[in-house]
Amino acid sequence: IKIKVTEIDCPVSVSSAFEGERVRKDTMFAEFGGNKTECWELVTTGDVAEMEDHKITVVGPDIDDAMFEGKDVVRLPMGVVVKVGGKQMQKDFETVLERRIHYFTNYIEGAMHVGQRNIAWIRLTKEAFEKGFRLKHIGEVLYAKMRSDFDKVVDKCEVTIYTNAEDVKRLGEEMVKPIYAERDERMGALTDESVDEFYTCLLCQSFAPSHVCVVTPERLGLCGAVSWLDAKATKELDPMGPNQPIVKGEANDERLGTWDSVNAEVARTTQGAVEQVTLYSILEDPMTSCGCFECICGIMPEANGVIIVNREFPDTSPVGMTFGELASMTGGGVQTPGFMGHGRFLIGSKKFMSAEGGLSRIVWMPKELKDDVAERLNKAVKEMTGIENFADMVCDETIASDSEAVLEFLESKGHPALAMDPIM
Ligand code: SF4
Ligand code: ZN
Repeated sequence: IKIKVTEIDCPVSVSSAFEGERVRKDTMFAEFGGNKTECWELVTTGDVAEMEDHKITVVGPDIDDAMFEGKDVVRLPMGVVVKVGGKQMQKDFETVLERRIHYFTNYIEGAMHVGQRNIAWIRLTKEAFEKGFRLKHIGEVLYAKMRSDFDKVVDKCEVTIYTNAEDVKRLGEEMVKPIYAERDERMGALTDESVDEFYTCLLCQSFAPSHVCVVTPERLGLCGAVSWLDAKATKELDPMGPNQPIVKGEANDERLGTWDSVNAEVARTTQGAVEQVTLYSILEDPMTSCGCFECICGIMPEANGVIIVNREFPDTSPVGMTFGELASMTGGGVQTPGFMGHGRFLIGSKKFMSAEGGLSRIVWMPKELKDDVAERLNKAVKEMTGIENFADMVCDETIASDSEAVLEFLESKGHPALAMDPIM
């Protein structure tokens, strides 16, 4: 028997209307994560027979604990475990449900949620605290939304919130990280050749009507939040939803990554605005970009390669433009050969602009981005070209950002792009 959950036991309002609400320092009462404390979240599948529906547990101090008296701001580590169970539940749905923690928490009036996994960051307002909001209410909201939005697969749901530094650290290491790693490994083992279907993502058409992401195992959505497994799971959870399969069939051109099936679906879903896309080229019919790309890559002709800028980087890149300036010419669902929005995780994919020579074309990235992707990038370039520690050959803003000095650095490192075929 399915019980519809609509009432939420929470002293503040819960609605999508509060989604964009920011919590600034002066109105903040409590903070979790955001580089100050550890903060992670996990959705995991439990044995439904052993679960107790609507069990909400806070392990560790709450925000009204006596230890915070007289403090300006309550700062605690946090680990959130949402355990779900149901006959129709599948392991592959976990990441889709987990991503919703971001949205559900943001629905709370007086709460802000940023990030995901172990880079989650939560803030609560003084006003919410004064109205009686406590940590168990985060559990109540997650419980109610998981049950109502995913009633097809979630029959029982338990939420445990840990705030003891020791628990958060230990469980983070022993339980959570291995699960993240296992998921990444599973995703990493899939290639575009090994599957029969790609997926469209139409979520961003609400503001970029001529944009569609084609999501493949080796090319996640440009927002970074929709992997091929996520798209596949979303299709099962929400058959009429934003992710629809494309049975790929034979490729027209394997180098460029073109399929009749992909073109037909792109043309149909954009009402003819875009008729041809390649999946592996940034020069010939590159995929369009909406506005939520994590990164933009663009050609730096004199270096015979590309630079990549991430959204967080505020300064001018070696092509003379900031992220914002690049975004204004790349976004909105138009094809801009030579420039393309993409997810962070694509930097490390063997399909990254493989038609133009792939990852070894990357000549410059902001340092933070480079450090973040270095491990996967190095591994992929090593497998593709034999080059060790490729990331060390890639210039960054701490070395140089003006064209001439970047070139000098690349030459001193013997960067492979300099010896490749002319990019244009
Ligand atoms: Fe979907 Fe992300 Fe692409 Fe938007 S950017 S269409 S959410 S994959
Ligand atoms: Zn988008």
